[in-house]
Amino acid sequence: MVRFYNYDIVFAEIPDEVSLALNITGCPNRCPGCHSTHLQQNIGDVLDADALEVLMGLYGKAITCVCFMGGDGRASEINALAAYLRKNYPELKTGWYSGREEMDSAIELKNFNYIKLGPYIEERGPLSSPTTNQRVLQVLPDLTFKDITYKLTK
Ligand code: SF4
Repeated sequence: MVRFYNYDIVFAEIPDEVSLALNITGCPNRCPGCHSTHLQQNIGDVLDADALEVLMGLYGKAITCVCFMGGDGRASEINALAAYLRKNYPELKTGWYSGREEMDSAIELKNFNYIKLGPYIEERGPLSSPTTNQRVLQVLPDLTFKDITYKLTK
């Protein structure tokens, strides 16, 4: 079951979008120098369709995107939550921040507009660093990718 620690309305994580960022817990990645070790624990509230409905009631009209921050241990459930949003809130974009190098096979690209791939590597820096190893990819209508990481570089 997917759980989330908290959420925030953010502007930088997905370029040109106002995103409801859901911080998913239970992260299995164990990146050295992890900046959010609390997200490695299996804590927080359940994130299911009911929880999404509550959040959409609160913020659905103020945002343009919902971004799942993490969830590599439960990719099929993240995919299902994104599919739920696609079906019920087609006006909203969806994004997923994965810490893995490669796309999980459980992810169906048709359910996402944006995918972030790559672990946090301290010496390469965060997404805003010119030397980052992480990539933010826009999913195009033909389900190919456009690398838009440069939009986050400071
Ligand atoms: S993916 Fe993020 S939360 Fe998970 S271990 Fe790496 S830095 Fe920490």
